[in-house]
Amino acid sequence: MPKITIIGGGIGGLTTAIALRQAGLDVEVYERASELKEVGAGLSLWPNAIKVLRQLGLGQALAAISVVAPLVATRNPRGDILAQLPSATIEQRFGAAVRIVHRAELLAMLTEALADTPLHLGHECTGFDQDGDGVTARFAGGQTARSDALIGADGIHSAVRAQMFGRTPPRYSGYTAWRAITPFPTAHLPAGEAWGCGSRFGLLPVDHERVYWFATKNAPAGQPPQPGGHKPELLTLFQNWFDPLPAVIEATPEEAILRNDIIDRLPLDAWGQGRVTLLGDAAHPMTPNMGQGACQAIEDALVLARCLKATPDIPFALQLYQTKRLKRANKVVTTSYFIGTVGQLKNPLACRLRDFLAKTMPAERQLKQVDWVVGYDIE
Ligand SMILES: Cc1cc2nc3c(=O)[nH]c(=O)nc-3n(C[C@H](O)[C@H](O)[C@H](O)COP(=O)(O)OP(=O)(O)OC[C@H]3O[C@@H](n4cnc5c(N)ncnc54)[C@H](O)[C@@H]3O)c2cc1C
Repeated sequence: MPKITIIGGGIGGLTTAIALRQAGLDVEVYERASELKEVGAGLSLWPNAIKVLRQLGLGQALAAISVVAPLVATRNPRGDILAQLPSATIEQRFGAAVRIVHRAELLAMLTEALADTPLHLGHECTGFDQDGDGVTARFAGGQTARSDALIGADGIHSAVRAQMFGRTPPRYSGYTAWRAITPFPTAHLPAGEAWGCGSRFGLLPVDHERVYWFATKNAPAGQPPQPGGHKPELLTLFQNWFDPLPAVIEATPEEAILRNDIIDRLPLDAWGQGRVTLLGDAAHPMTPNMGQGACQAIEDALVLARCLKATPDIPFALQLYQTKRLKRANKVVTTSYFIGTVGQLKNPLACRLRDFLAKTMPAERQLKQVDWVVGYDIE
């Protein structure tokens, strides 16, 4: 039975471990952190990823920790709907609704599904050596791990990727983002994303009592928080936006607010060499504008497992995985980047034109625009 080493215990690495185990492979996961954790924020999972999780037998577990996004709507800062896709329409067309989940709860669900798959915490991969017979991962503590294949699922700053393709800085999108989960009644929540000029605000239920929100603003890279903290800056930025946006910010404890500059990387034209390949953000880090980063990592996991199951020739299986995944994932990277550029337009005239086009686009055309990504089925 081929032995596979996975570097990284994030959503991508853990889903891959589950899929590979189910395909009958011998898997071990090596994670840098001393405990598995995710940030206190939400995540939207689209039908393309939900259908993969169902195939891995995780559909019910996911349903138990997530809620259906009632409406995928785009609004203006007054709250007028510019475009909307009701949950029932999405479910009918794509076979699953969009679900919102707490990241930490998703990671806990995946960790439980790992069962007895070995997971080595506190192991920071520093590089690897490969030969005709196998590959050896090296770790900062001096340990090594020998296997038939090495999967770099070690995120946007991947050490595995850096060894193969060089250590380069990520691309800054030109905007920064804040996000948090906060207690807030969700019964009448106007779920979706609102587009202003140079800033956006998203609001999604995590359950009946908690809201996941995110906000963006055009800004130079690496700006420190303002002296009063994130909250006063956000309250000023969104003070005239529709209810309950200011109230949601007000209800959020300052320490619950995370801020990240939004980055990605230009697409690669190869993900691996020989017995080594990349997966998830290590392979195709993307801006979050389509809510697809984790969804694509989940797709990667199942495709990789199928390829490794199909043939004992490991380099061939990894090449097949790359052939099946690279073009699609790269298209999501470039489309996400483009959507972010449009969403962050600053010029008021350009914003008016954007909003007009969104408002007048027929519903069927909106669905067609997301068909290729959301309606994708791994055969
Ligand atoms: C603001 C924001 C909102 C987002 N919203 C969504 C969304 O709604 N839907 C969606 O699908 N996606 C979303 N994403 C993207 C999503 O978060 C990522 O695509 C996804 O988490 C990637 O998972 P991963 O496992 O590939 O990488 P990561 O989550 O980065 O995991 C990598 C793991 O590898 C470990 N690691 C790193 N280096 C090493 C090393 N050298 N050795 C060992 N271990 C190592 C890390 O500790 C980590 O545990 C969003 C991203 C952002 C920034």
